[in-house]
Amino acid sequence: MSFTRFYDPDATRHGLPTWPWGHAPPHLVTRKQLAAKGLRPGGQDPAGQVRWRSRRAPPGARGVREALLYRIADAKPKRAPTPAVLASLARAMRARRTCPTCRLTFTYCLPTSLGECAACAFDTEVDPNDLEDAA
Ligand SMILES: [Zn+2]
Repeated sequence: MSFTRFYDPDATRHGLPTWPWGHAPPHLVTRKQLAAKGLRPGGQDPAGQVRWRSRRAPPGARGVREALLYRIADAKPKRAPTPAVLASLARAMRARRTCPTCRLTFTYCLPTSLGECAACAFDTEVDPNDLEDAA
């Protein structure tokens, strides 16, 4: 039942050419499979999909999960982050480790539920081992 239900390579029943789990043609792969080869879809439209029954299907999907398939031939190499992107990410992560109240920078991200470090939230002492070395 499941094989015929999801076997539709000519897209007569589903919106896209569709294969059951494990039966997609080898020249079509998922985004994750592209990434494992160091590739990205690169703006191409999905060329098909894989569908399968799963208990982990999202609500409303009626027990069916799906993954879009992309052509390997039209994929592009993954882009390496530029130094500016890496610097921006480093600043963002540092902001998550810095308490807005006492301005100390910790070795871990502060809990968003507190909005400040535990020492400020609970009026306790800061463990010096939790502080990032001042650069
Ligand atoms: Zn603080």
